[in-house]
Amino acid sequence: MTSTKIHSTHCERTAFVYVRQSTWLQVSENRESTERQYNLRERAIQLGWPESRVEVIDEDQGRSGSTATFRTGFQRLAAEVGLGKVGIVLMLEASRLARNNSDWYRLIEICGISGTLIADESAVYNPREPNDRLLLGVKGTLSEAELFTLRTRLYEGRWNKARKGLLRFPLPVGYVVATDGAWVLDPDTQVRERLSYVFNSFRRLGVVRAVVRDLRQQGLELPTRVTAKEAYGSLIWKEPTLSTVFRILHNPAYAGAYVYGRSEYFSERRSPKTGKASAHVRNVAKWPVRISDHHPAYIGWEEFVKNQEQLRQNWGRDDNRGVPREGRALLQGIVYCGVCGRKMSVQNRSVKESRSPSYICMQGYQNGEEKTCQSMTSRPVDAAVAEAFLAAISPVNLKVATQVMDQIEQELVSQRRQHELQLEQARYEARLAQRQYDSVDPSNRLVAAELERRWNEKLERVTDLERAFAQAARDAEWKLTPEERAAITELSHDLPAIWSAETTTNQERKQLLRMAIESVQVDGITQAGQIEVQIRWRSGTITILNVKRTAPGECSLKTPEEAVSRIHKMAPRRTYVEIATALNRAGLRSAFGRRFTTQHVGYICRRDGLGDRKPRSNLELPKTPGASGPVES
Ligand SMILES: [Zn+2]
Repeated sequence: MTSTKIHSTHCERTAFVYVRQSTWLQVSENRESTERQYNLRERAIQLGWPESRVEVIDEDQGRSGSTATFRTGFQRLAAEVGLGKVGIVLMLEASRLARNNSDWYRLIEICGISGTLIADESAVYNPREPNDRLLLGVKGTLSEAELFTLRTRLYEGRWNKARKGLLRFPLPVGYVVATDGAWVLDPDTQVRERLSYVFNSFRRLGVVRAVVRDLRQQGLELPTRVTAKEAYGSLIWKEPTLSTVFRILHNPAYAGAYVYGRSEYFSERRSPKTGKASAHVRNVAKWPVRISDHHPAYIGWEEFVKNQEQLRQNWGRDDNRGVPREGRALLQGIVYCGVCGRKMSVQNRSVKESRSPSYICMQGYQNGEEKTCQSMTSRPVDAAVAEAFLAAISPVNLKVATQVMDQIEQELVSQRRQHELQLEQARYEARLAQRQYDSVDPSNRLVAAELERRWNEKLERVTDLERAFAQAARDAEWKLTPEERAAITELSHDLPAIWSAETTTNQERKQLLRMAIESVQVDGITQAGQIEVQIRWRSGTITILNVKRTAPGECSLKTPEEAVSRIHKMAPRRTYVEIATALNRAGLRSAFGRRFTTQHVGYICRRDGLGDRKPRSNLELPKTPGASGPVES
């Protein structure tokens, strides 16, 4: 994706790596961040720039990013870009370049004109492409949300530490830290043996449920470490549960590996209940940090990998949710259950089925509750959220952006005024010093020399301040031109078009949504036939919408009229099996062009309220809830 945007014309020009941190505190305390910024040099080389044409601008170390006025590095960058000398600008989190929007938009503008690319650690943007412009623009606006980006930087700092195996985290039960910081086996024999028992038991039985049953039958408890503040780290024994055994089997630490990054956390997706970022588990092969033989092991690495495969297969039997990220359900990952507060998962249909995916709350079910909490077709919810998003993003963000810009202009003007006042004061002091010098008797040499020195000092200060004032005056003249304002307005008007463009992928749409939306809560239970949709915006506000529940089948293909009327006729007298057979014999096919099954027939009977005297086995939650029949409940 990134490489297609880079052409030889870009590589012929210089690559600029822009390094900055906002305060001296960060400079001293957050060396990891600095290191990451310098790593961008490597990225430029990887992207195809020769080493000799990669230049690092780090003049801004220790200067605050709130305006570009005092940052000569930024100004130099802008100047070089404007002269068309720069092929690409690399920085951490693109929008961090300048924390205020006006600097940022100005840079996007200049880069657009001079054909300069913008890149961060993950992507390359071409400001000439409307899609990229939009992303960059929105990024800039949202980077005002300081907290979010700060978090990201802290998080990346942790990563750098972890890559070196230096990041500390609480050890899993069965290990303790030795005085030299190394991990050693727990000196408690019972703890070690119980863990070995679990691994043996899984080796023998191959199913976690069976392991738990076995432990319970033997009356064996599992050790855990207390994580509560009081008695932190002390050992207690607990009744074995599925999740404890899962955790033990999934933990690579027992295979002697130091691993970091087993899960991806999405700081933009938080549990509305706990506020914690949601996690997505990475495949073993994709773990970014893995240091083998880091400490003594309970099982070998091969066995660990085999166990993961086994667990995955077992899981696949229990539950068939494959959740491709490209999926059509736009709220994937940010949708929460309005009934129980848990995160909802997406149930995708096979392509053949051509049905829109569903949001389903099934964590409770997985934890042993009798049925899933609620589920609904994604399409009407997605449509409502998208509409709210498009309505909200243009006027609101635009207003915020322009307000910020106005504020900066005012700041620049007030800064000039401050300089002016300082200068006046200094001139007055200089005149005073001159008068004192003039009034002293020249024969009193010592005094005269001292007063002359002071007068000279004052004069020097006046010269300095005059220079600073001239600079401030020049800066204050900088204003967002009406053309620039118009460009930004246009950008936000383009949003609906970009949103619906065929070239925009669902992944991009999701990305856009997440820039403005923190999470969405849906409740399809409280009001019959309605789904209450709560959108929690990044800005902290909440929008509540009511969406009509799509009647099953209404949103997609319809069962042919003829089949429906035949079902209506036969329903009172015949079983589902008989009806399905009759329909198939008559050559009728379902909405998806397939032969009718008892499930199809039952589905239409229930939908149309034709009584349900027929076998209800498919209403008790099947192993794959909703996979075959309707999931609306
Ligand atoms: Zn729920």
